[in-house]
Amino acid sequence: KRRSKIRNFSIIAHIDHGKSTLADRILEQTSALTQREMKDQMLDAMDLERERGITIKLNAVQLTYKAKDGEEYIFHLIDTPGHVDFTYEVSRSLAACEGALLIVDAAQGIEAQTLANVYLALDNDLEILPVVNKIDLPSAEPERVKQEVEDIIGLDTSDAVLASAKNGIGIEEILEQVVEKVPAPSGDPEGPLKALIFDSLYDPYRGVIVYIRIIEGTIKPGEKIRMMATGKEFEVIEAGVFTPKPVKRDELTVGDVGFLTASIKNVGDSRVGDTITSVNNPASEALAGYRKMNPMVFCGLYPVDTNDYNDLRDALEKLELNDASLQYEPETSQALGFGFRCGFLGLLHMEIIQERIEREFNIDLITTAPSVIYRVTLTNGEEERIDNPSKMPDAQQIEFVEEPYVKASVMVPNDYVGAVMEICQKKRGNYLDMKYLDANRVTITYEIPLSEIVYDFFDQLKSSTKGYASFDYELIGYKQSKLVKMDILLNAEKVDALSVIVHRDFAYDRGKVIVDKLKELIPRQQFEVPVQASIGQKIIARSTIKAIRKNVLAKCYGGDISRKRKLLEKQKEGKKRMKSVGNVEVPQEAFMAVLRMD
Ligand code: GDP
Ligand code: MG
Repeated sequence: KRRSKIRNFSIIAHIDHGKSTLADRILEQTSALTQREMKDQMLDAMDLERERGITIKLNAVQLTYKAKDGEEYIFHLIDTPGHVDFTYEVSRSLAACEGALLIVDAAQGIEAQTLANVYLALDNDLEILPVVNKIDLPSAEPERVKQEVEDIIGLDTSDAVLASAKNGIGIEEILEQVVEKVPAPSGDPEGPLKALIFDSLYDPYRGVIVYIRIIEGTIKPGEKIRMMATGKEFEVIEAGVFTPKPVKRDELTVGDVGFLTASIKNVGDSRVGDTITSVNNPASEALAGYRKMNPMVFCGLYPVDTNDYNDLRDALEKLELNDASLQYEPETSQALGFGFRCGFLGLLHMEIIQERIEREFNIDLITTAPSVIYRVTLTNGEEERIDNPSKMPDAQQIEFVEEPYVKASVMVPNDYVGAVMEICQKKRGNYLDMKYLDANRVTITYEIPLSEIVYDFFDQLKSSTKGYASFDYELIGYKQSKLVKMDILLNAEKVDALSVIVHRDFAYDRGKVIVDKLKELIPRQQFEVPVQASIGQKIIARSTIKAIRKNVLAKCYGGDISRKRKLLEKQKEGKKRMKSVGNVEVPQEAFMAVLRMD
């Protein structure tokens, strides 16, 4: 009986189309929170998320809604992260729902991740309810956008809600549609337990908090459970729901979305996508779709102050508890000393982890340029996986090298097709396809090496299309490429942390760009510093950092104390992110510059 009143749904959208704002309005309307508790974008829990305006952790909130039919309904609103780095997590959280609100910005229309998210929702057989948001904007064109949703996605938009999450327009209509159109969950409460893990979070007091959706069966505190992917067993300590405050319950049953704790010490033991079953009445098969997440992007993390090494290890250990997709292992660099090689799902994931280490643990970091995993087949037939360019074997030992490729889809207005193709070409892309979505918009698909997009591909796309381009990618596999290692020498000494893997045909140009860029970024020293790029023994490019002439302070006359202090502070600020390499002071930006194209 109660089950027919449950509605589980998500909100899906391209970034910035208003997902978090709508979620806030829904929380208000269902009076889950008092005004005082209500903070803007309640669902984006971490400060970092709030600042960046992105959603990293999934969240599930139980709400009660009194519908126009007089009945009270239980909603579970499941928030999904919006970025390509977290596609798998989006897919898992959608698998916990029966329906999805598809938000499309009335001024922007459909964008690349609108489509990517719709496909994920369709894969999970969800009922999709289109909502055209931001109709308050002067540039809103709700009718055109509705037509777009019909033409491009093929959804019926005759009932699409026209909304303004910002101004609270259309919210009730959305909630009524959730009641009417999203199916109630089905499943047998007495059957063998199947609970889908769609997220988890480490809590220092209670261990891992596992976010689950019960698909079949019932779960109670005291019961013995088993994780089907790992076979690990635990005893349930607490079960409950988020309102959004965690509230304990005696049981969770079919259709319920909530949490459990079971003294689980490591998030790796409760992996997203895995199925929980009960030890006494086990399910024979796990739910579909469990997949181990492998990092795609690697970089070295080194403390600026070598005394911070142990703190950095502690920080990574703590973050790993919270984030099963983060990987790290100790590495040493001749140039940078002791640090860690870390693996991330993508570039955003990498930036988030770096920022959290600096903010939450107060450690200044030097990060090396991100790299992918290269597959190297040696002349003796062995295969090696290289995630650190400086570890690339000598050219004479190598039979061939393969690198990961992605299929990249870029959506843009017609006018920018040329600009997008130029960037893709420059990034060693192979043209695959071009599709007109309507009279003025195109999706262009290229096959591009992952190494070329991990750095500034998206920034370049944005800037050369006035921000109109939107972008999505998926890994398609490994391909052979003519790749070589390029080393960088400062003052005639090889700096391992600056080595890069480049395509042979682009090596000379890249070498030139890099040595010029380093000349700009590395401050003048007391002596002249030659900067060289080499392949094997051969120097292919060179620039020179001239020696410093005068102390900067000599420029200010005695009386001008405040100016002097400012200069000193500026120098100190600059020092923070400098690392002495040999006898040359190298700033953080220099380590990233090796991937710059311009
Ligand atoms: P998300 O990335 O999809 O979660 O988008 P947000 O909810 O963070 O919204 C992105 C931006 O759009 C924010 O600056 C919001 O204030 C703004 N926004 C959201 N909904 C509306 C709306 O209905 N009208 C207007 N004018 N702005 C909105
Ligand atoms: Mg958001």
